[in-house]
Amino acid sequence: MKEEGVIMDDMNELINYCKQNGFIYQGSEIYGGLANTWDYGPLGAKLKNNLKDAWRQHFINENKNAFELDAGILMHPRVWEASGHVNGFQDPLVDCKECKMRYRVDNLINEFDPNANADAMSEEEMMKYIKEKHVTCPHCKASNFTDIREFNLMFKTERGVTKDKTIDIYLRPENAQGEYVNFLNVLRTTRSKLPFAIGQVGKAFRNEVTPGNFTFRTIEFEQMEFQNFCKPGTDLELYEKYKKIAWDFYARIGIDVSKLRYHDHEKLVFYAKAACDIEYKFPFGWGELNGTHDRTDYDLTKHQEYSGQSMLYTDPVTNEKYIPYIVESTVGLDRAVLCTLVDGYTVEPLEDGSTREILKIHPYLAPYKVAVLPLMKKNHSELSNEVFDMLSKKFSTSFDESGNIGKRYRRQDAIGTPFCVTIDDETINNNTVTVRDRDTMKQDIVKLDELVDYLTKKIEF
Ligand SMILES: [Zn+2]
Repeated sequence: MKEEGVIMDDMNELINYCKQNGFIYQGSEIYGGLANTWDYGPLGAKLKNNLKDAWRQHFINENKNAFELDAGILMHPRVWEASGHVNGFQDPLVDCKECKMRYRVDNLINEFDPNANADAMSEEEMMKYIKEKHVTCPHCKASNFTDIREFNLMFKTERGVTKDKTIDIYLRPENAQGEYVNFLNVLRTTRSKLPFAIGQVGKAFRNEVTPGNFTFRTIEFEQMEFQNFCKPGTDLELYEKYKKIAWDFYARIGIDVSKLRYHDHEKLVFYAKAACDIEYKFPFGWGELNGTHDRTDYDLTKHQEYSGQSMLYTDPVTNEKYIPYIVESTVGLDRAVLCTLVDGYTVEPLEDGSTREILKIHPYLAPYKVAVLPLMKKNHSELSNEVFDMLSKKFSTSFDESGNIGKRYRRQDAIGTPFCVTIDDETINNNTVTVRDRDTMKQDIVKLDELVDYLTKKIEF
């Protein structure tokens, strides 16, 4: 059994916990599952929505010059030509000729020999390495691979008005292009001046073969994107500012900051000026949660070129004209969920020698903020239902009347419910309830008509 505060060292324990409690299930499980897909259950869906709301509050609502957008997943195919995804968004893959398993060639080599440093090799060098060292297939142990083929990571489908005339369209591999192509629209309709920002929460899709580490890397995932548009020359200041704002987001949602680190990119893509990730120490190693990038005027320049629409911004004070620079800071939503679960899940020893399972997450993120527990079903259910009706108008509220009160407390601890409200004879006679705190297990006596205020203060984000 784990000690208090020690994060799990085994992802299988977390996967099992998530399944048992309804946070995350394997995708299409009754059909044997589809690799690297996962479904969020009742508690996972709530946790995910709470994280979206927290992000909106932190990045959008508390910023006068930030606006949220909900752009389509399907976009004009020219968008992906302009962004470079049609020609440059590829993984080098090889197939095992014996068992037909497909691998990303750098991963195959790095797995064969962790010191090989495939990332530094060219494709030719990788192919040579595979042949000379007789790299084997992890699945069937044969050493018989095809040549390297470039495999585009975008999911492609067809759209056509007649049978003979179709165009290739793609499920978006990132959200950011939705913000870029709407830059002029949002600027105009919000009557904004630079700097201003557009954010978006939404799904993106990448046809990767890379194994996932549970929900860390999946073929369908959700991003919380934030794109700042600014005057060239002010970009690096904004970049430093958003590195900090992103860090503060994880601190604010209660992640243990001693397990976070910045990772500055040494190798930059040719158009970028600066790039930095925030990483969390997962049981499987450091993993990226957020990326903050100074993308210069690359994106809008490309869209100007491909669309023929001018992306020039006229400074209202100086009349100077320029294409805005973009500083993005993107939070991976599924990774934020995973990080919250890994960081919060604890098995705590109790005084009597037993243990309790507890999800120590920020009350704002908790799937249920409060649970209403009638002490005795027979005597207290009616009033408990009234209390549930009152609380559920304000908070996500759970109701549990089965089993002894200790067991019900444990169940709520395990799913992270920060407060349990017990209804008993005192409620009937004196209009008071007992409120138990998840973390301290201390109990407060609270008047029924002050309960909503009491909880509101404790849950504040
Ligand atoms: Zn094989």
